[in-house]
Amino acid sequence: MRALHADALIRGDGAPLVDAAVVLDDRGTIIDVGPAADVLPRHAGAPRETVRGVVLPGLVNAHTHLELSGLRGRGRGGAGFVPWVEHLIGARSELRPEEDPGAVDEAVRELDVYGIAAVGEVTNSLVAVSALARRGLAGCVFHEVFGVEREPLEERVRALPRVVDERVGPWPSPDLTYAATPHTLYTTHAEVVAALVARAAEQGVRASLHLAEHGAERRFLEHGDGPVVAWYQSRLKLRRDALAWPGEAPVAFADRLGALASHVLAVHLTDARPEELEHVARRGAPVVLCPRSNLHIEVRLPPLLPMRAAGILPGLGTDSLASSPSLDVLAEARALADRFPSVPHADLVAMATWGGARALGRPDLGRVAPGARPGLFVIEGDPGPDPAAFVLRSVRTPRRWLSRRQEISR
Ligand SMILES: [Zn+2]
Repeated sequence: MRALHADALIRGDGAPLVDAAVVLDDRGTIIDVGPAADVLPRHAGAPRETVRGVVLPGLVNAHTHLELSGLRGRGRGGAGFVPWVEHLIGARSELRPEEDPGAVDEAVRELDVYGIAAVGEVTNSLVAVSALARRGLAGCVFHEVFGVEREPLEERVRALPRVVDERVGPWPSPDLTYAATPHTLYTTHAEVVAALVARAAEQGVRASLHLAEHGAERRFLEHGDGPVVAWYQSRLKLRRDALAWPGEAPVAFADRLGALASHVLAVHLTDARPEELEHVARRGAPVVLCPRSNLHIEVRLPPLLPMRAAGILPGLGTDSLASSPSLDVLAEARALADRFPSVPHADLVAMATWGGARALGRPDLGRVAPGARPGLFVIEGDPGPDPAAFVLRSVRTPRRWLSRRQEISR
């Protein structure tokens, strides 16, 4: 057991505390937390450490694609999603980032340096799974499935257990869930989307869906035309009559497929309208935002203010290093702080911690609360009266773990 007496503490699921104390057991489980004057006398026998700076729970990067880490800085943004993905596909076939385990290992090491304890990793290749397990990261692995032709896609879905067996072998960590997951509503056949999210619900795990990311997605789903169709025709030589679209808006269509649900992460929602955000909130779908990726690709921000008005506390993700400058979710929170000055800093920091843990379905992470085991790290310095503002000012200050969730095995 140990007691930490800190200048300030970010709790994740409550207001930050100044002059705070946390008591941990030997595994890092939180036993007690609160104002130092209350907590320390209750644990007078515990060894005590003084921490100068702000203590935070391990951060949660709820949306990333670590397998693309070999494309760091290779993305070409600013012209919209379809040109971006077209460039990405070219770079991906040329550079084969998923065959670059060094880049993936380096990215996973960076997660640890940033104080990140859990991820929502979306992957086609599963290449990052063993590195995540080795470093003791928790969270969800979303094995992504796409294809608009139903039967070949169903065949691929049936083959996934064999693919996992070949590429990963025995699942390496009980702290990482696995779910086969749809890519988007316009790249994964609708019936396969419905089947995948239904299966995740049966298995009691989270699935994930890129939803309402950009206007081209809405245009295709509602009208069956626009840049998505042009892309299918030029890249895949698909005839327009081979494509099916529902004539429905993204959020309504997701709901009809069972994909707007409390176990399916709705990632991005950059193009969602206020009434659609209310629909998302009514269904209790966990929301994850990747603002720096949206800025890079579409020069657009997610609609944070109507989202907050609908009562949504989103989690944060970085997307991949092909569209984001780093894997740091505090830098995402800082990017939002710069552009949404009316949003309290404490709420933005909470999105990088508890918002992400809640999205991943992990009440034991992302918050400093009795019974949780979030991992704790410190950003050193003099926080002054507003610890969350200090944290967002200090995104370049090195972070130091005080308690990792799991010792790194080598
Ligand atoms: Zn993504």
